[in-house]
Amino acid sequence: MNIHEYQAKRLLQEYGVPVPRGYAATNSREVETAISHLGDDMIVVKAQIHAGGRGKGTFTDGYKGGVKVVKNREEAQEAANHMLDNTLVTAQTGPEGRKVQTLYFTEACDIDHEYYLAIVLDRETAQSVVIASTEGGMDIEAVAEKTPEKIIRVPISPTMGLRHYHCRRVAFALGFAGEQVKQFARILTGLYKMFWEKNAMLVEINPLVTTKQGQLIALDAKVSFDSNAIFQHPEIQQLRDLNEEDPKEIEASKHNLAYIALDGNIACMVNGAGLAMATMDIIQSFGGSPANFLDVGGGANEDQVTAAFKIILSDPNVKGILVNIFGGIMKCDVIANGIVAAAKNVEIKVPLVVRLEGTNVEAGKKILRESGVALTPADSLVQAAEIIVEQVKNAD
Ligand code: ADP
Ligand code: MG
Repeated sequence: MNIHEYQAKRLLQEYGVPVPRGYAATNSREVETAISHLGDDMIVVKAQIHAGGRGKGTFTDGYKGGVKVVKNREEAQEAANHMLDNTLVTAQTGPEGRKVQTLYFTEACDIDHEYYLAIVLDRETAQSVVIASTEGGMDIEAVAEKTPEKIIRVPISPTMGLRHYHCRRVAFALGFAGEQVKQFARILTGLYKMFWEKNAMLVEINPLVTTKQGQLIALDAKVSFDSNAIFQHPEIQQLRDLNEEDPKEIEASKHNLAYIALDGNIACMVNGAGLAMATMDIIQSFGGSPANFLDVGGGANEDQVTAAFKIILSDPNVKGILVNIFGGIMKCDVIANGIVAAAKNVEIKVPLVVRLEGTNVEAGKKILRESGVALTPADSLVQAAEIIVEQVKNAD
């Protein structure tokens, strides 16, 4: 689960990490109030979307920059007028961009140098890793690609936790000395504590800057939480912004369906993540392209299958559906009844191919055959994929 920069900064502040003073706004009245809280001096106006690269982004109407450093309140108001409710395209949003529904106004900093600092969970080594670089800011991806030696990594064992020597090691690698080593150690300690206590998978400050006055301060923040642990943190759950999520995915999560929208035109309804992956692969190998990943789970019932059909059909790109269910825990006849009932409940106008396998498969196929629902039963995954790809092609 992701949160916005302004929310991440509030959390950082709770953990003692210095951030510039700032105010969020979601409508023109709040924009006015937010700006009035800041001095009539340099102000930074920042689009809040769950994607990075805003500084270098462009709005779909041609307005440049989702992060604007402006000279006074009037210019802040002007930038806000351009950004709010406009769609921002960045390297991370995809070409369709994201609608900006929240803005953040903060004090501007006199930047001396921009650093990168992050903690991520490294599943391979089962540790967290501190990642840091002297080359922070908007070109960090290029640094990682062209000069990876400028990025340092310090693994932190979960049993030991972050120790002072870790802080000093990173601080020295970044070239800090004297008072700044202490400031940096406080920041990294707070960052790690937050990472650990809130079950984060990523906390990233890019840039962490030194100001001309010698202070270290976090100017941008990104935090992702482990959604499997989110039930332990109701205060984090509250920060979820449904505006940033695909409505189809929100609906799916209500029905305990694992659904991810993709950009193809053949929808899949499958039980089990592995089978779902295999189904997507085989569609692709026959020259088709999957419209989604959808795992209805081991114990899928009629309600879930109905919800799954509705979600699939709300995607206008879907030109065909492949149902691939393995009756292991569930019996095929039960599933077939569910599919038939759901298909009758939801009007399906696109080709539907169903492949069942497993316990009571013959009874299941009989139910499908005699249902009167327009569908093509298939005997194998290969055959099912071949048929649906062909049918979708012919429908074009
Ligand atoms: P993104 O990473 O999405 O592009 P950032 O918040 O990192 O957005 O902002 C981009 C750049 O804008 C930063 O690298 C920094 O140079 C500048 N910037 C951001 N916030 C401030 C601020 N409060 N004061 C001065 N400059 C800022
Ligand atoms: Mg940034």
